[in-house]
Amino acid sequence: MNPLGTRRLALMLIILAVLTVVAGSVTHHAPYTPPPDEEGQKTLNERPLILVHDVTPYYFDDLRQIIAVLDEYNYSNRTVLFVIPVFDTTHYWDEWSLRNHPDFVNYLHELQRRGYRVELHGYGHTYHEFNCSYETANGKLDNATALMNSLGFGNLTLFLPPAWALNNESLRAILEHNLTVVMPNWLILPNGTRQRIWNREYTWYIGENQVDDRLSVALHDYRKASEDGIPFYLSVHPGVVNQGGGLDFLRAFLRTICGQKKS
Ligand SMILES: [Zn+2]
Repeated sequence: MNPLGTRRLALMLIILAVLTVVAGSVTHHAPYTPPPDEEGQKTLNERPLILVHDVTPYYFDDLRQIIAVLDEYNYSNRTVLFVIPVFDTTHYWDEWSLRNHPDFVNYLHELQRRGYRVELHGYGHTYHEFNCSYETANGKLDNATALMNSLGFGNLTLFLPPAWALNNESLRAILEHNLTVVMPNWLILPNGTRQRIWNREYTWYIGENQVDDRLSVALHDYRKASEDGIPFYLSVHPGVVNQGGGLDFLRAFLRTICGQKKS
């Protein structure tokens, strides 16, 4: 091709690329942009992280429903799935171990390929599981990470303690496993430093008539956190958010954050 042809081709490619970007941002899942009067506040560019608790085959159908809503808004890259390796050993022994549910494990891998992040939510999720000794916590974390590793979920970096229950000993064990602990008001990094967050849940068994109220509270909190430069996380529980107005709330929240639903 002569030099003029090459230049013309390059120009056409650039125009095509610009048009693609413009069309994409107008019609599909436009990233959240701050309203004009709030421009310049950098954290407003950061959309909330959605934390899905209690990810276990026990809630397989509920999880699918939640994922369907998140997918409507292409939210996989801003969602963390907190997995329980062996759900509720007290009542079910190893019935709900990930090991016994390859279909669920495959589903998690598929979600991971689509951008969802898989992290750790305890081991057996028994009552206040991590309000325990250093040795017990260490053993549970070794078992949890080994099981997750054997199923292809290595490189775990976050730990969400069941029922937020912790003590200084178990915290030390978790941080020594190089995991960052997620709490309602803090991230605790492996080196022990704390980073302020707002991690809130608005869908604890809400009725269908509570959606608007919960939404306005959530959006108020999100804006307040953003103004203060604090990352905002939205927590949801499978089996709980699936009832009453829970999923309608989630859909309305995402619609507000993301703008237009993807076509
Ligand atoms: Zn939980």
